[in-house]
Amino acid sequence: MSLAVIHTRGRHGIDAPPVTVEVHLSNGLPSLNIVGLPETAVRESKDRVRSAMINAGFEFPARRITINLAPADLPKEGGRFDLPIALGILAASGQVPADKFTDYECMGELALSGEIRFVSAVLPAVIACHKAGRTMIVPQANAGEVMLYQEAKVFAVDSLLAVTGHFTGLKVLQQVEPVDAGTAGRSSDGRDLSVLRGQPQARRALEIAAAGGHGLLFYGPPGTGKTLMASCMPGILPTLTEQEAIEVSAIYSVAGYGSRKVPFQRPFRSPHHSASAVALVGGGACPKPGEITLAHHGVLFLDELPEFDRRVLEMLRQPLESGEICISRAARQTRFPANFQLLAAMNPCPCGYLGDKKHPCSCRPDQIQRYRRKLSGPLLDRIDMHLEVSRLSASVLLNPGETDESSGVVLARVLKARHRQYTRQSKLNSQLSSRELDRYVVLGRAEKMWLMGIIERLGLSSRAVHRIIRVARTIADLSDSDEMVKPHLAEAIAFRNLDRAVSDSRNGFL
Ligand SMILES: [Zn+2]
Repeated sequence: MSLAVIHTRGRHGIDAPPVTVEVHLSNGLPSLNIVGLPETAVRESKDRVRSAMINAGFEFPARRITINLAPADLPKEGGRFDLPIALGILAASGQVPADKFTDYECMGELALSGEIRFVSAVLPAVIACHKAGRTMIVPQANAGEVMLYQEAKVFAVDSLLAVTGHFTGLKVLQQVEPVDAGTAGRSSDGRDLSVLRGQPQARRALEIAAAGGHGLLFYGPPGTGKTLMASCMPGILPTLTEQEAIEVSAIYSVAGYGSRKVPFQRPFRSPHHSASAVALVGGGACPKPGEITLAHHGVLFLDELPEFDRRVLEMLRQPLESGEICISRAARQTRFPANFQLLAAMNPCPCGYLGDKKHPCSCRPDQIQRYRRKLSGPLLDRIDMHLEVSRLSASVLLNPGETDESSGVVLARVLKARHRQYTRQSKLNSQLSSRELDRYVVLGRAEKMWLMGIIERLGLSSRAVHRIIRVARTIADLSDSDEMVKPHLAEAIAFRNLDRAVSDSRNGFL
């Protein structure tokens, strides 16, 4: 038979569309042509495949070889098609039985020696392959990624000879053993909350933010531990569910990071402020996920928030509302999930010492104004809580307080508050739409009047008011209360510091 068909998978966003590799050998001058929208790395595949086959002891047919990657309108990138192309040539030339491949899909980049190398986006392909009812063959280096997906039948291979051995019956491959989701990677390597000394307000803010999934902005002079506070967040968040862990692992697989060390821990990403738009939200010719997608189901921490390019920050608005990012390229649209919790930190002014008792601030008023203007009102509106962090006295730093609880104690309360929210409305308070707010959050008459007075005085936007109500609802949930009363609202309003700074700016504060 001079025609062979091998099944494999391409990559589009975090999906793995099916690709069929058709190989035809015909008479004529020896040549090899790949058709079906291949990119450079795929076109170079012919040289790798030829060397790998020869070095593995096979014969490279001296005939006219045509390889078609179907469907033709799907762009194909990377070295992932090397293995199916090699198997196709071997099957078409009768060196391995061609009828064995119908129930299999495979992918892998070939080294010139015939070894099989790591490729990206293996986990989504394994999931899709399992749904199609086939068995997947992946590079050994990718085995860690697929261990999380319990149901699939997967073989991991390290060389071309191992694959052909399996099909000729020389040496049957062993299936990849799934890991036990009950025990794997439940441990957390985030910082424990007990490292935060003093700072009762910061602890409280972190607890509320964790309980309701709220965005949180710390601002204060350098050296007050803003970054440390943010890094404690993963430790007081519940571990991922199995479904979420697979989703997050699929994203890391697509990004080419391989397997996650602690697959059930929520991701914590803190990109540098020089990050480009593509690095932050994703993109490129063949769109890859950015930091906001890598933070899906976890935390995105933006340190030195005003130092980020304003255009880049503006791009966060859409995913903050919809939980996904849509990247449009000439021919196709790619969607990546981006349901993350935003933590941010900033100095109060460019030099950092505005309002500090020890250091005088050396900034001119217009510099401070320009610095703060970089944060647009709409972005600030989308962060539920703002917290001013001040420097601690030496005595507090040296004598840990009695109330310094560990992450485990706080996590127990967070879990309880989250349970209340899911029982009531099947989602976290931070995710309630304004219509759902009306339905699930009922304010008493006195509370409503009181809140209206405050809104008027501070000149808050309607979006900011909704944020206040959501945070207040979480505070009530943390205190196990169905009713929302004035102290809950008052505490939530206290976390809108910067709104007040903005309204004060009209009186010359900024
Ligand atoms: Zn300053």
